[in-house]
Amino acid sequence: MKAYIPATQIEKTGIIRFVPVNISNKDLYSKLSSIYEIIAVRRFTKKVGQDRVPLQTVSITFLSHVLPDNVQYDLFSYRVFEYVPPLLQCFKCFKFNHAAKVCNGKQRCSICSGDHFYKECDRPNELCCANCSGPHLAISKACPVKLKKIMEKKTNITYASKADTRKVEYPALPDKNKIVRPEKTTKTQSQKIALSTPAETPKFDIKKELLHNTDLMNALVSTLIELANKTDSNPITNNSIKDTYAY
Ligand SMILES: [Zn+2]
Ligand SMILES: [Zn+2]
Ligand SMILES: [Zn+2]
Repeated sequence: MKAYIPATQIEKTGIIRFVPVNISNKDLYSKLSSIYEIIAVRRFTKKVGQDRVPLQTVSITFLSHVLPDNVQYDLFSYRVFEYVPPLLQCFKCFKFNHAAKVCNGKQRCSICSGDHFYKECDRPNELCCANCSGPHLAISKACPVKLKKIMEKKTNITYASKADTRKVEYPALPDKNKIVRPEKTTKTQSQKIALSTPAETPKFDIKKELLHNTDLMNALVSTLIELANKTDSNPITNNSIKDTYAY
């Protein structure tokens, strides 16, 4: 099995504004710099008639779960803002956050809110919103239900990005050399993680090791006795111990 970290936890998309339209995506990608690695750059465009017109807003995707405060291009510094994707409205039932392709709702008329397609509407002068029953089209930007949904989306994204600032931690990957055998009894999630975490190698304490080595200790003691019994008046030093011990 292969493990993946979800893209939302390693990538984050922000936008910068007032970027001259003559700068290509390629130039932006190669010249923009930030404290986090930039993995994608895309300029927003607007459809005007048959053409796509470049806008001054550019989206940047960073290899990070938080956004940097700013990015640099030549000598300019651009402030990075949260990217709030547009609110999705279904063109079948006119509710939000799903597309008509996957809609389970009933067909509604965007003009009168009746259960027919808007082209078959027999009351084109009686505007009644399918979401709030107000006197506007169901797709109107002035619809209070739509405005509320847009606000909710903005708040959620800001909240999520704040929550994102906490450190994301993953359990350590199991050691390839240590095969973790499946447990017969059911374990809780945290116990499972603990099991898959490689056991910490006990710290090697040299002092303890030496003190418990009887042979070495005996040899040292006899060396010291030998040195102390020597008739010369040379002081006992590290070197004299080492010399006598080695001999
Ligand atoms: Zn729908
Ligand atoms: Zn209708
Ligand atoms: Zn409405």
